[in-house]
Amino acid sequence: MVDLVSQYQKMEAEINEAVINVIKSSAYINGPEVKSFQKELENYLDVKHVIPCANGTDALQMAMMALGLKPGDEVITATFTFVATAEVIALLGLVPVLVDVDPDTFMLNPEQVANAITPKTKAIVPVHLFGQCADMEAILEIATKNNLFVIEDTAQAIGADYTFSNGQSAKAGTIGDIGTTSFFPSKNLGCFGDGGAIFTNNDELGDKLRVIANHGMKVRYYHDEIGVNSRLDSIQAAVLRKKLPQLDSYNAARNKAAAFYDEAFKGHSKITTPKRADQSSHVFHQYTLKVTGVDRDALIQHLQDNEIPAMIYYPVPLHMQKAYTDERYNVGDFPIAESLITQVISLPMHTELTENQLQFITRSFLTFVNQ
Ligand SMILES: *Cc1c(COP(=O)(O)O)cnc(C)c1O
Repeated sequence: MVDLVSQYQKMEAEINEAVINVIKSSAYINGPEVKSFQKELENYLDVKHVIPCANGTDALQMAMMALGLKPGDEVITATFTFVATAEVIALLGLVPVLVDVDPDTFMLNPEQVANAITPKTKAIVPVHLFGQCADMEAILEIATKNNLFVIEDTAQAIGADYTFSNGQSAKAGTIGDIGTTSFFPSKNLGCFGDGGAIFTNNDELGDKLRVIANHGMKVRYYHDEIGVNSRLDSIQAAVLRKKLPQLDSYNAARNKAAAFYDEAFKGHSKITTPKRADQSSHVFHQYTLKVTGVDRDALIQHLQDNEIPAMIYYPVPLHMQKAYTDERYNVGDFPIAESLITQVISLPMHTELTENQLQFITRSFLTFVNQ
């Protein structure tokens, strides 16, 4: 699904040097590399505060802690997504309120969000799934009207641009109150281990997030609130500093691969290529198709027989996960998500796909679908 080795080889000397320099400096934690990466990411995103942290799940958790959400408060998110969002909501004693998604963009449906609001609702967490932004304008409007916080889960969409109807644009993750991301190796901006970050334009939240990430302390050994220990280490920051200047070209390479797939599958009666959301660019963390009238398991087997990986993101929506079973929800409650899980299939998507590989993948795929 990804080819991290080829990507690394292109920058091997540069990255090795940066990593060795951190090792020689012995500034392994909170060293100058972390500070520099923070500043460089702030510049790239055009956001006031970046708070580097240990991973994207911690980033979500700290975002909810910083907003002062209390046990029993309701947080609205999509049922069709990676588990991290609902996980931290549940861990903090908050109540995940799930809503269905748009069948074409796979993203949080604003109308459903509006319908799910109760007096206990405190926040909305749109997940910018697969690489493009949710309908932020509609979500912000609902949030403003109902006095709710918005946390953008940008783990899959770093670098995507969102354009408002007035023509203004902003980077994914800098639109709501807080944005979160992950630098897990296979993400669009990946390090060589775990990493994450939180973004905000709000000075007060920025201060609070820095304190929470550091055991709730501003002055060493004086703890003003309960925090966590969540740090990006200096080696990861050094790697990310080398890769951040490449992010736009990485995302362009992903778009090129996506355009090849689009063209190969165009107009096919059994294949729906991914829809581009109106207001967002797409950075193709995943290239996710829908297939109908095809034995999907046999298709995946056929691809595997040809050494082509393919994945189902995601096979089970949150309301049907064992750990998140809830008397409020039943099978059948979210028909779009429940139909998507039977149709979606994600193809290899990364920065190093060659035309030969893309040709081989699309031909194998079509051979099976057309048989
Ligand atoms: C990867 C991912 C996360 C979690 O990131 P980690 O760094 O693995 O903790 C959260 N949300 C989404 C949508 C993701 O894809």
